[in-house]
Amino acid sequence: MKNKNWSKDAKYIFVFGGVMSGIGKGVSASSIAKIIQARGYSVTSVKIDPYVNVDAGTMNPTEHGETFVLSSGLETDQDMGNYERFLNIKLPPTNYMTTGSIYQKVIERERNLEYKGRCVQIIPHVTNEVIETIEKAAENNKADFVVIEVGGTTGDYENMLFTEAARQMKLQHDENSILYVTISYVPYPEKTGEMKTKPTQQAIRSLNSAGIQTDIIIARSSVPIDQKRKEKIALFCNIKKEAVISAPDIESIYEVPINFEKDNLSELILKKLNLDSRESDLSEWEGFIQNMKSATEEVKIGIVGKYFGTGECVLTDAYISVIEAVKHAAIAEDRKAKIEWLSSEEYENHPEKLGELRKYDGVIVPGGFGERGIEGKIATIKFVRENKIPYLGLCYGMQLLVLEYARNVLGLEDAHTTEIMPETTNPVIDIMPEQKDNLKNGNYGATMRLGDYPCEISEGTLAFEAYNKVKVKERHRHRYEVNPKYIEKLEKAGLIFSGKSPDKTLMEIAELSKEEHPCMFGSQFHPELTSSPLYPNPMFRRFIKAVKEEK
Ligand code: GLN
Repeated sequence: MKNKNWSKDAKYIFVFGGVMSGIGKGVSASSIAKIIQARGYSVTSVKIDPYVNVDAGTMNPTEHGETFVLSSGLETDQDMGNYERFLNIKLPPTNYMTTGSIYQKVIERERNLEYKGRCVQIIPHVTNEVIETIEKAAENNKADFVVIEVGGTTGDYENMLFTEAARQMKLQHDENSILYVTISYVPYPEKTGEMKTKPTQQAIRSLNSAGIQTDIIIARSSVPIDQKRKEKIALFCNIKKEAVISAPDIESIYEVPINFEKDNLSELILKKLNLDSRESDLSEWEGFIQNMKSATEEVKIGIVGKYFGTGECVLTDAYISVIEAVKHAAIAEDRKAKIEWLSSEEYENHPEKLGELRKYDGVIVPGGFGERGIEGKIATIKFVRENKIPYLGLCYGMQLLVLEYARNVLGLEDAHTTEIMPETTNPVIDIMPEQKDNLKNGNYGATMRLGDYPCEISEGTLAFEAYNKVKVKERHRHRYEVNPKYIEKLEKAGLIFSGKSPDKTLMEIAELSKEEHPCMFGSQFHPELTSSPLYPNPMFRRFIKAVKEEK
């Protein structure tokens, strides 16, 4: 049998956004991938971020949303998290690109004389780099299908390069290997009481002017698209009526694949790509949805962070993986999570308000950087420790758990992290020596511990109850560590380091003994990054179990 040429034989589905952003393009792209995967194909997803940043590591989460870290350590867009959660796969770094990363590669090649003296041009050299990156995703992942989400909205100056690459790919591959899908917004102005298709028509026209005729339109709206509107979109956008898919607002993003199938989307995609129909199996996914719907008893979780001060909008996008991980774990424990955002700065300035934490069944301090609100977080941790409210600390939330213990139990009043107070006499959280040199030289990019690292868990601990095994691997994104000089003292004072790096130098999980607290632990890694509906992360699951029991 001839060897499969993955990049040549794969089917590529490009997903564009029409009219405006923020209408769930990432979830739609994930859901398309999901329903194809349910047909028994191997599917992978690629995200194109049109920013000039080389990766998402330098982007502010309040602007760009959460930075999702891949197991390789690459810092990417939050949509990569959606793909991993929907598809239950781990994505390699080749599945993410930005304008910056593409140009960086082209410029490197140019400096290496790889273009052999030719003028290097956007077309074809830069577009070829894009195409090559997409094809590599098919190869690296041995994928029958690659779903490529083109960031931004059609007509944006910023994503023209990628739209052009998408056009060219159709010329380079078999006619029925490439499919274009546009997720478009159909407004429903209350006053007129009628859905308006004009913006979608314009979006499709701008794609047309880039040489692309969309094959499918997914019409996002507050309500389902009626037949009349479907016909109108079909006529004006030059596609068949069956290729207009209705995508109304729904309660949970996880229902989107099921909703797409109500309009036979996967069948349509296979037909358009000249593939025989195959049985679809979404049963596991449907089982999850069923559990989600039957879990009605609420648990109230407070997330204490710096981005949700009074008067500021709640930036749920910055914590999307945390939110989803809480939901997955709650559903697995037959509960419905009600998440509330609490401002650590409020607690810092008004400690009398800490009492309101008693209203919560569990408290989380998520990852973070910098000084803002840090004393409020430490006060929160003290309060939940003393009042025996279940607590889960994520990265910074673990470091602060250790600091609080050092200050209030071990008695080192000025215990601090050198991230905030470099001159403290008790640097309980400190940067590792090899990182220090990089930082001194202003080489910030090289100072983070990123991606998968192994952790070994001690038996008989809360962490072991969570994972039920010794060797685990989780994702990291941090610079600071528990200072080895304080480990023995902290342990003597009662703190348990239940997870450590295999060489025992780095503290990965810290927890309180069960005599001291029903469930208080935190991890140096980010457990939220590996949670999915079908496989909730064990740390979150153990936390929610305690929340349920203590309620
Ligand atoms: N600021 C801390 C560090 O750099 C924690 C980082 C985080 O929470 N992701 O180590």
